[in-house]
Amino acid sequence: DEVILEVNHLTKNFIIGNSFLKRNRAVCKAVNNVSFKIRKGQTLGIVGESGCGKSTLGRCILRLIEPSEGEIIIDGKNIVEMNDAELKAMRKDMQIIFQDPFASLSPRMTIHDILREPLDTHKVGTVAEREQKIASVMKIVGLRPEALNRYPHEFSGGQRQRIGIARALVLEPKLIIADEPVSALDVSVQAQVLNLIADLQETRGISFVFIAHDLAVVQHICDDVAVMYLGQVVEQAPAEELYRNPQHPYTQSLLSAIPVPDPTHHSETIILEGDVPSPLNPPSGCTFRTRCRYATEHCAQVKPQLQQTITSPDQEHFVSCHLVS
Ligand code: SF4
Ligand code: MG
Repeated sequence: DEVILEVNHLTKNFIIGNSFLKRNRAVCKAVNNVSFKIRKGQTLGIVGESGCGKSTLGRCILRLIEPSEGEIIIDGKNIVEMNDAELKAMRKDMQIIFQDPFASLSPRMTIHDILREPLDTHKVGTVAEREQKIASVMKIVGLRPEALNRYPHEFSGGQRQRIGIARALVLEPKLIIADEPVSALDVSVQAQVLNLIADLQETRGISFVFIAHDLAVVQHICDDVAVMYLGQVVEQAPAEELYRNPQHPYTQSLLSAIPVPDPTHHSETIILEGDVPSPLNPPSGCTFRTRCRYATEHCAQVKPQLQQTITSPDQEHFVSCHLVS
């Protein structure tokens, strides 16, 4: 299938501290050399704990934050090199959904105006066509037409996330970046929103970058998964392969935290000691070594590279660990 988005060596450095005094400055590599491809109608899950750089990565793709290095190719064009007019046109094809739908919906606008705004901004069709598109996305996300005259605070969290999804859909984008879209919702409502996203993937061929902090959420909707730690991808594989054959100790610990429905199948929960180190002062060598139960002296000295794992030579399975490459 057609490649919708290709990201090559994307890096984002933040300069922290006093910009006049060089010695007080520090460079934080929030996103470090990340690459992937997404095909039409496919979903890439990006998973990691808070502070791993996954939200920064999502925002860099849309250039809501300027990347420091790398390429982001959509329709053969590099987003990093686009001018303002090209960027505006590109944003019609790529939309974002945020974790907190309430914070991202203007409290003084009715649902109708919230959905109408992007259509006006991009001058889509006639007035009648705009109204028709609004009615159609309301149906897709399962909201009644009466909801159009109401305000965001009148809705529950799950309904607000449907409104956020409707707003992202109204421009008929090719790709949606969903930044923890269900983390703030109750478990039962999470399932409904995930089903809606799965449905959009299948029936409309929309591609998703789905950002999440645990592997359970993305398990049933992703085609590929990238696991991030301190700004870097430590493991990346087709979803089925990653869940069946996790190779990186970090992925293994994230997976062991997912409850197994079958109680006779007992698997050990791997408790991760300590917190994520500061990205300002990452450990030498392998950045995961301060929490890795297999860490050796070699891990402190030599940084592992992301490379194809030897256990599944027929899969696009990449891992960054001295134990498995
Ligand atoms: Fe653990 Fe070493 Fe592998 Fe890093 S390289 S994950 S410290 S075993
Ligand atoms: Mg985040």
